Amino acid sequence: MEAVITVLPGDGIGPDVTLCARRVLETVGDAFGHGFEFRQELVGGAAIDACGDPLPPATIGSCEASDAILLGAVGGPKWSDPKAAVRPEQGLLELRSVLGVYANLRPLKIYQELVGASPLKPEILDGVDLLVVRELTGGIYFGEKNRDANWASDLCVYHTHEIERIVRVAAKLAQGRRKKLCSVDKANVLETSRLWRETTNNIMAAEFADIEVETLLVDAAAMHLLSRPGDFDVIVTENMFGDILTDEASMLAGSMGMLPSASLGDSARGLYEPIHGSAPDIAGRGIANPCGAIASAALLLRHSLGLEQEAAAVETAISRAIAGGARTVDIAECGDAGVSTTEMTDAIIRCLN
Ligand code: NAD
Repeated sequence: MEAVITVLPGDGIGPDVTLCARRVLETVGDAFGHGFEFRQELVGGAAIDACGDPLPPATIGSCEASDAILLGAVGGPKWSDPKAAVRPEQGLLELRSVLGVYANLRPLKIYQELVGASPLKPEILDGVDLLVVRELTGGIYFGEKNRDANWASDLCVYHTHEIERIVRVAAKLAQGRRKKLCSVDKANVLETSRLWRETTNNIMAAEFADIEVETLLVDAAAMHLLSRPGDFDVIVTENMFGDILTDEASMLAGSMGMLPSASLGDSARGLYEPIHGSAPDIAGRGIANPCGAIASAALLLRHSLGLEQEAAAVETAISRAIAGGARTVDIAECGDAGVSTTEMTDAIIRCLN
């Protein structure tokens, strides 16, 4: 098949890990006879430096004309002055909004060989295979913001239709898995959460009687994710709770660098990025873990291009490379320097061939 993919490297380790994911996609294209055309554009701090806009019109145009978008990460100390008029993160939030990608899928599985890389006990990690479905274009990240000398406010708004559509996405995904859905909210305190819970219960009762539903308050969910992660199948939650819970959950897999994400809307076009940020503490050192970005490329093949066999081949190659001993420093044995970002990618590509 022919497909156009816009690549947005962004900032910090973003360019390093997107390059790795692109190399893997090129290898898959050659091996399976697909013609992938890559168009590279600016986003985040790199775009602010080039033209003062974290999401330039050329970037929006290229994304809208593409079948899929592969993104690295945005942000960093250079652009983090709280008084700055524009910030890199604005570009990412606007991009998600412009593309209408309201459903952020964050699958988490444990590689047996990496159990030792997690701070949790091996028996707690047994059988962990969960998917967090995070609402991505609503809630407090998108609400009106106000600031005066001595006060500040961020408005959190959810409409029923926004909750209904994300719950449907999550419930349908649960139907193809272990048929369990856990909805996370803060309904004892927040009005938006009370609407979330009521709407979720209505949709689940009316349309998904085959799915077992559990409801948790976000504070309890944070604890249960560490005490009984194996019990979860699909977790659905609002924007900020999903952001925080998935960073927490990433430690089950041993490192932030392992986890991919897919952001989807009503069309096949999706935005794919690792869940981690620009990691300024390791930027430019060539040691970033590319697995999250490469696994995001696998999700791109599956969800936007409908290439399931190719997606599975990439996921198997990551597993094989890890089983073969390839480790960047974040997942290496204590004291082991690990391999470089490029060497880790080379190992994955060798396992693809
Ligand atoms: P971060 O995810 O960048 O880093 C957190 C920790 O995880 C750091 O110690 C980092 O070295 C490590 N880490 C992250 N990715 C890694 C990888 N691939 N391999 C090895 N180690 C990895 O979070 P942060 O430090 O809180 O944020 C840094 C910047 O990134 C900030 O400007 C923040 O706004 C931005 N950010 C961007 C996104 C995004 O673009 N989607 C997401 C989160 C944070």
